[in-house]
Amino acid sequence: MTHETRIDDLPIRDELRGKSPYGAPQLDVPVRLNTNENPYPLPEPLVARIAERVAEAARHLNRYPDRDATELRTELAKYLTRTAGHEVTMRHVWAANGSNEVLQQLLQTFGGPGRTAIGFEPSYSMHALISRGTGTGWIPGPRREDFTIDVAAAERAIAEHRPNAVFVCSPNNPTGTAVGAETVLRLYEAAQAARADTGGALVVVDEAYGEFSHHPSLLPLIEGRPNLVVSRTMSKAFGAAGLRLGYLAADPAVVDAVQLVRLPYHLSAVTQATALAALEHTDTLLGYVEQLKTERDRLVTELRAMGCEVTDSDANFVQFGRFADSPAAWRAILGHGVLVRDNGVPGWLRVTAGTPAENDAFLDAVRAVLKENQ
Ligand code: PMP
Repeated sequence: MTHETRIDDLPIRDELRGKSPYGAPQLDVPVRLNTNENPYPLPEPLVARIAERVAEAARHLNRYPDRDATELRTELAKYLTRTAGHEVTMRHVWAANGSNEVLQQLLQTFGGPGRTAIGFEPSYSMHALISRGTGTGWIPGPRREDFTIDVAAAERAIAEHRPNAVFVCSPNNPTGTAVGAETVLRLYEAAQAARADTGGALVVVDEAYGEFSHHPSLLPLIEGRPNLVVSRTMSKAFGAAGLRLGYLAADPAVVDAVQLVRLPYHLSAVTQATALAALEHTDTLLGYVEQLKTERDRLVTELRAMGCEVTDSDANFVQFGRFADSPAAWRAILGHGVLVRDNGVPGWLRVTAGTPAENDAFLDAVRAVLKENQ
């Protein structure tokens, strides 16, 4: 008899025992609005340009890629300078395989065993999971009932726990809530004061959904604040989740510091070529972002008109409720062929803004579910 080995039979780290990997259910249903992807495929001229640039990269695949991704970081810096209200150069920008890898590199550098990170929950659950994966202790911080950050309570939590890293997700996943510059500045000051012994604490502003916000980017706050990092991604606004390209902007010293932990040649030549091609088509892609923002606002308005509670959203998704039994509501909406996300926030579900037709299908599904439950 062979015995099937289970994870917990292996000599894995104690803190990983009994845990589940991150992942949303990927069901094969007609309308999938559960993972905050951009519903628009890349336009054909961009697809052709990617093929061209990747072909050129392929001619040199016998060699390792540019370890420093110089051209890509230069173009990302130009993009940020043009769109995020602050001038940055290649030296302020670092790129990796998705912003998840950027965040992981940050915690490998600034967190780790004996250190802690705080985030204000509910928020992007990978902040806690990447902390665990890097041996960084996780501190769940508070949020108000309306999902905004209670600055006084957050300051108290920072003073009490003295974290080495503070995550501020703006716009916040899964609630859609934007965070104001004032709040970030107060949390930054609190974190520096609490960790004066270690030369301060890293404050990570996760702007994965920054381009969808009604508010300007928090990027200008990096000026004069070497412990403040803004992380971004091409997965959402650039419609390139499959590309795996995330980046950060910060003081050049932070960029130098993450190089202490990054794997050599972590960003393949194919990835760099593809991202560069996408950046050539920025204006077209930002045009889709404008359409998605309009659709996002329509979802908020129409859900409210149906009597749902909806959290103000600055992202490409909307948190709606409240349901006495949100898992049951999730299943009922799925029964109408629409997959949304249950992020485990009691009473609430999250829907990603899709194409107008997908959003119509979603709104019809919710309408039907509300009627069934009258
Ligand atoms: N930050 C937030 C807030 C996110 O929601 C996501 C993706 N869901 C990420 C970071 C990671 O995105 P990626 O690794 O695709 O850049």
